Formats: sequence, C-alpha cells, structure tokens
Amino acid sequence: MVKLRAKCVLAGDSTVGKSALVHGFRSESAHFLKNYTLELFIFDSSGKEIFYDMVESQWEHTATICLVYDITNEATFNSCAKWLERARTQAPSSQLAGVLVGNKTDLACRRAVEYTQAQEWAASQGLEYFETSAKEMENCDAPFHSLARAFHHMYEEKLEHIRSIV
Ligand code: GDP
Ligand code: MG
Repeated sequence: MVKLRAKCVLAGDSTVGKSALVHGFRSESAHFLKNYTLELFIFDSSGKEIFYDMVESQWEHTATICLVYDITNEATFNSCAKWLERARTQAPSSQLAGVLVGNKTDLACRRAVEYTQAQEWAASQGLEYFETSAKEMENCDAPFHSLARAFHHMYEEKLEHIRSIV
C-alpha cells in the first residue's frame, strides 16, 4: 500500500459554497484507488482580497486546485479566470491538476451561467467540469475524486519518468 498526499487548494469568490462543499466531501467515504490510499489536504481559502497576503503561503506546493463558483452568480464565474491565474503563478510547479465546480444546482431556477458555457471554458483551461449542490449533498464527492485520480496519474507519470532515467 502506497500512501500519497496531495495538496488541494479550494479557490473562488466568497459565499460560492467552498466550505459547504468540503463539508459535504468529508462526510462521505473515499475509497477509490486500488493499491493506494490518498489523502487530499484541502486548503479552504477565505476568498477575500483583504486576506491575500496572508493566504499567499497556502499556495505553496499546491498539486491540485478546485475552482468553485455559484451558478446563480455570473460574477463568481468570471472570477474563476483570476483565481486560476493566481494558482498558476503561485504554484508554478510542473503540473497543476484542476477542476471547475458550479455549485448551488438546487437554485437552478435562478441559473445565470449555462452548463455548456462553463464546461467549454473549463475544457479550454484543461479543467474537468462538475456541478454540485452542497446544500443537497449532490455530487460533492465527484470533483475531489477527479482531482485524486488526476494527482495519482501525475504521480505514476513521474515514477515512469524516474524509472526511464535510472
Ligand atoms: P464560501 O465562502 O465559499 O466558503 O461559502 P460557504 O460554504 O460559507 O457558503 C456560503 C453560503 O451559501 C452559506 O449560506 C451556505 O449555506 C450557502 N450554500 C453553500 N452551498 C450551497 C448550495 O449548494 N445551495 C444553496 N442553496 N446554498 C448553498
Ligand atoms: Mg468558506
């Protein structure tokens, strides 16, 4: 059994549901990788610019990023580009696996960002797209499982590379 630890930073504007999402994930069991146990250390950033300097160090050694926005609030979707840019500059380490999460699907009647619009932007940035409702505990584990799989894949590729040079 190999134990892997991946650091995951949660990013997104304030009130999009980052904390609620992590809460939903933690309460579900996560056995998904054969021969590995993988712990995701999730760093829940405040999302407030005022804390920018304080949270700067949170980005060190980041391997995965979970970008979250609120599907009823277009501004929070538009901010995702900025959050991703910050992650890429703060964590320039070789590879960064990421997902985009549109949260609050229980408020679909107030939807302001179309599924396809979000998915297309995510794909253009190399991110997998998920929609969740942290309130209804709907699909909350899927983005984190995807990140864990992506991290595992990067790890295997690194091992393969090391094997090829020794
Ligand atoms: P954060 O600032 O991104 O960490 O957001 P929070 O997790 O603190 O959530 C902000 C507010 O949105 C709280 O009042 C939550 O109850 C609410 N919230 C979070 N997720 C959902 C959701 O999926 N649906 C609805 N309707 N409300 C949500
Ligand atoms: Mg929070």
